[in-house]
Amino acid sequence: MANKTLFERIIAREIPASILYEDTRCIAFGDINPQAPFHALVVPVKPIPKLSESTAADAELLGHLLQVAARIAAEAGYAGAFRLAINNGAEAGQTVFHLHVHVLAGRPFLWPPG
Ligand code: 5GP
Repeated sequence: MANKTLFERIIAREIPASILYEDTRCIAFGDINPQAPFHALVVPVKPIPKLSESTAADAELLGHLLQVAARIAAEAGYAGAFRLAINNGAEAGQTVFHLHVHVLAGRPFLWPPG
């Protein structure tokens, strides 16, 4: 059996995290190294390694992740402005190979991003 991803271990409560939201399809928790006053990760229970490996069968799940991202931003008081990011691949900054949506808020964000 393949080793669990870091985020599967958080879902299994083997690693503690500040959990903001959870349902049968995804979990959201605070990032351990926040890059903004609010920085959470929305992670599917299904351990899709990265967005580019998702399939048409994952389309509804991907939409759900975005809706949960907006919901947790709103619940934290940031309905008006937040930044979502998905790093796909090591060269794009991905370090944990279990798909996740970064939800950042609480400071101005530059465009283009670095
Ligand atoms: P990536 O670089 O793959 O897009 O994002 C991975 C994120 O996971 C990073 O922002 C990093 O700070 C976060 N992270 C890494 N290890 C842990 C952990 O053990 N707990 C939590 N809550 N976040 C983590």
